[in-house]
Amino acid sequence: MATKYVYFFGDGDAEGDESMRPILGGKGANLAQMAKAPLSLPVPPGFTISIDVCQEYYKLGKKYPKGLKEEVAKYLDKLETSFGKKLGDEKDPLLVSVRSGAAESMPGMMDTILNLGLNDKSVLGLAAKTNNPRFAWDAYRRFIQMYGNVAMGVEHDKFEKIIAKVKAIRGIKEDPELNVDELKKIVEDYKKMYKKEKGEDFPQDPQVQMWGAIGAVFGSWMNPRAITYRKLNNIDERVIKGTAVTVMAMVFGNMGDTSGTGVAFSRDPSTGENHFMAEYLINAQGEDVVAGIRTPMDISALEKQQPKIFKQITTIRNRLEKHYHDMQDMEFTVQEGKLFMLQCRNGKRTGPAAVKMAVDMVAEKLITKEQALLRVKPDQLDQLLHPQFDAKALKAAKALAEGLNASPGAGCGQIVFTAEEAVEMDKAGKKVILVRKETSPDDIAGMYVAQGILTSTGGRTSHAAVVARGMGTPCVCGCAAVVFSGKDTVTIGGKSFKKGDFISIDGSTGKVYGETIPVTPANVSGDLETFLGWADEIRAKSKRTTPSGKTVKGFDVLANAEQNEAAIAFRFGAAGIGLCRTEHMFFEEPKLTSFQKMIISNTTEERKENLKAILPYQEKDFYEIIKAMEGRAVTIRLLDPPLNEFVQAETPELAKALAKKLGVKNSVIEKKYAELNEHNPMLGHRGCRLAITYPEIYETQVEAIARATAKAEKEGLAHDVRIMIPNVTTYQELKQIREQALAVIANVNKELGTSLKFQIGSMIEFPRAAATADKIAEYADFFSFGTNDLTQTTFGFSRDDYSKFIDSYLDQKVLLQDPFKTLDEDGVGVMIGLAEEKGRATKKNLHLGICGEHGGDPASIELCYKLGLNYVSCSPFRVPAARLAGAQAVIKSKK
Ligand code: PEP
Ligand code: MG
Repeated sequence: MATKYVYFFGDGDAEGDESMRPILGGKGANLAQMAKAPLSLPVPPGFTISIDVCQEYYKLGKKYPKGLKEEVAKYLDKLETSFGKKLGDEKDPLLVSVRSGAAESMPGMMDTILNLGLNDKSVLGLAAKTNNPRFAWDAYRRFIQMYGNVAMGVEHDKFEKIIAKVKAIRGIKEDPELNVDELKKIVEDYKKMYKKEKGEDFPQDPQVQMWGAIGAVFGSWMNPRAITYRKLNNIDERVIKGTAVTVMAMVFGNMGDTSGTGVAFSRDPSTGENHFMAEYLINAQGEDVVAGIRTPMDISALEKQQPKIFKQITTIRNRLEKHYHDMQDMEFTVQEGKLFMLQCRNGKRTGPAAVKMAVDMVAEKLITKEQALLRVKPDQLDQLLHPQFDAKALKAAKALAEGLNASPGAGCGQIVFTAEEAVEMDKAGKKVILVRKETSPDDIAGMYVAQGILTSTGGRTSHAAVVARGMGTPCVCGCAAVVFSGKDTVTIGGKSFKKGDFISIDGSTGKVYGETIPVTPANVSGDLETFLGWADEIRAKSKRTTPSGKTVKGFDVLANAEQNEAAIAFRFGAAGIGLCRTEHMFFEEPKLTSFQKMIISNTTEERKENLKAILPYQEKDFYEIIKAMEGRAVTIRLLDPPLNEFVQAETPELAKALAKKLGVKNSVIEKKYAELNEHNPMLGHRGCRLAITYPEIYETQVEAIARATAKAEKEGLAHDVRIMIPNVTTYQELKQIREQALAVIANVNKELGTSLKFQIGSMIEFPRAAATADKIAEYADFFSFGTNDLTQTTFGFSRDDYSKFIDSYLDQKVLLQDPFKTLDEDGVGVMIGLAEEKGRATKKNLHLGICGEHGGDPASIELCYKLGLNYVSCSPFRVPAARLAGAQAVIKSKK
């Protein structure tokens, strides 16, 4: 049988359903599902050309597979019969829309063409048939503009200039005020301009138009903004393989006051509240709502104007939610009092809304806790942990204007007026607010870097609002008090601002402030606490068998934190500290100076003397962390970095300043600098190698740990302190350091009358350590995989220099992922698996974790779960996302 490329929907039935997203795309699959029983919703008839065709189209060098033209012709016939009109009919033409739709929604990124089928003759037929020449000519001018721009690449501005000129002659402002003669004039001028631009007449043959539009939609899969969108949203082109094309009978919302167009969300996509949030524009087409050109009215106005339609759409909202078990984003059109559904999909939502809906839907018994946990992307939680405006400062600030609260959060930065300016200023390290009349998909890169987006027109469903919500960027839109007064100036609530001036916007209230308002950190509470509580439960109860055949229970999330972050880690729900980098404790003065004095010591005696000054600092910091963590695990790593990082004297000025600070001669610093300078410091004298040459350094740190723990114990505080040795390559290193540490601990116990015991573990950061993990495990109570170094040494990519070439690797698909961001399963993953197998062959229940940056990356967390690690440890701000990602790994592994 020949491959089937085209699928029909309409007449209360459909070929295919929602399960066919990978073939029909989201839009095509949902239209099919809506059209057929049990939903049987009013959907205009149409057909969908499958995503397979898109793949073939590119494989064949932008040509269609054999048989497609015939199949489309057959389905067009079917569509014409179903709708009772023919494409190109001069008396009563069928008009169609040609729409894109990938398996994952990419709102506004690909092309759509409406009103297709109009030409110089059928426009007259449409005018006569509808008895509405204004409507017919408006539809024709919209079509020429859309087709010319989208399919043929004629600049949007060229069309806008023509409209503006005609409007100026009569001094009118809005498009709906244009009369028939003016629309005819616009059509004439459009066609002339088109011919000048393209060197040929605007196509009159509807078949040519249709294939032009189909080609444009397939072509839009590879347009730069769609590519950027996929990159920014981690859409994997191996899974989401292309777009489908849906050709559908047009219905019209611009046929007078009993017609209109609406965009609706079954719950509030910004806050998650369970109320119908819809916007409606009377006498308009869908593009007017989405483009943010006119500000629509709230759906409640429809209740007054057309109560029956209002009731019908409300019922549909409830039925769709029940059917899909998720919040729906719907587009509909009312044509002369009759409702048509044009689209439905799971709606995009902000992080706070995603969490609220997930929690509410469990309470409503619409979904299970597992389903709820899979509903929220770990990255979305970031939005809940974004700083908020400082409550006091916010109260004192006076708002200049108020628009629609389209995407929540506090945004503060310097005004920019274009996406390009936003990108430029971001590169220069500046925070910006993008201020525009409306945004379009071309602005995506600028929107991505902005701290906030402010628009003067457009509703909650405008492009700016939808995209901002998807990105979690605060957005205030439809703010009429924002008036553009020149190329680089704007007035907000009557006050004038230039590019570069600071403003603040509150996406939660819609308020705009002409000043900088300080922000405060967020907390885990309310719905988020409930939600993450479920995630913790699922991880705690989890059980799996590792590839090496061991059974492992539970999967914890710890944090990488020092004394200043321990409280945040605790607040965000870390089960402990998995990595305390002791070198980070010396960044502040006066600790830094004493640390540097220790480093420049020339003899063991001198070093020991200088270490005496360090001991109380370390003891105090360790004690504070132990106290803050209230008995949870605190894993303290002994000194790791190359020491030259702390002796910065690459210029004579720096050397002089350092010498002065440390009270030594310049020559001492210069000599030390030369001594410490290494060709390859990350593979040089660092980690436990420091303790092999200078055992007194680790001995002092262990003493500080033991004293701090003893103090906590004497005060009745709970404690669980673990000592971790970095950069272990051979078991002999660990054996020797362990013996020295045990001796120090014994001395402290003796002196203070305590009987403290500590787990002493090893980091696994090199292939050799993984390969000899059975031996290392004899001297280690736990392993922690330092995957930053393990990636560096497995790949042979310097973690400090790889940025020079990684983009080329990714662009050319030599690598599919940045291995320092997402764990490389095939190489580094194998090293971890080897260490797991060998380590647990020596000690059956050896506790394993990861503390490299990968510990906060959802895909890496899933791999760590599979490989049988007991915990991941990541930066405090990533802890909530990791708690969720860990639970998702558990749920997915059961499927
Ligand atoms: C690692 O290598 O993964 C690690 C946690 O250590 P650091 O980044 O401090 O070298
Ligand atoms: Mg390391």
